[in-house]
Amino acid sequence: MNSLQRRILTDGDVLPGGILKVDSFLNHQVDVRLLRQMADDFYAAFQNTKIDKILTIEASGIAIACYVAERFDVPLVFAKKGRHKNVGNDVLTAEVFSFTKGTSYNVTVSRKYLQPGERVLVVDDFLANGQAVLGLKKILDEAGCELVGAAIAIEKAFQPGEKLLRDAGIDVKALAVIESMSDDGQIVFRDED
Ligand code: 5GP
Repeated sequence: MNSLQRRILTDGDVLPGGILKVDSFLNHQVDVRLLRQMADDFYAAFQNTKIDKILTIEASGIAIACYVAERFDVPLVFAKKGRHKNVGNDVLTAEVFSFTKGTSYNVTVSRKYLQPGERVLVVDDFLANGQAVLGLKKILDEAGCELVGAAIAIEKAFQPGEKLLRDAGIDVKALAVIESMSDDGQIVFRDED
């Protein structure tokens, strides 16, 4: 069991509706030592892949992605939610349906930070229905970049995201793959070898 999995078992809270709350170490208060360990684990998983840039979505992906970008020694770009005047006009946009909020929102990246031909690793905190990663893929496709993989902290394998992403040809690596979660707090991880 890796550090993230252990931490989920000690400090994660299962909420009704298949939501895992990790506010005490990942999504609100942040354990930066854990993030550094996670970045090492992502590095081990993708070290044979050429990566030019990391891409994530604000807000909760940013902290994790900072450490991953540092580990790979490449820039981090984060997609902004909504339309921002200060991003400029030359932007790439995708609509994303939010699993936790139940509504859609736009994500925007300035075209100048994604150059054609760049090989990009997407990083996010959770994989649920796969819509966030697919939105980022649309932006990368439009930019002429190559999505080389999705580095996910926590994947909920009982939701359809993993299959959707794999069917789209995306190399998904998650540090904690949750097979099942019950309302009484029981969390079962997939055995990885
Ligand atoms: P997806 O786009 O794969 O449906 O959902 C991924 C996004 O929804 C993540 O970026 C994350 O912010 C949020 N999310 C999905 N499931 C959970 C969850 O169980 N707990 C938390 N805290 N966020 C989640």
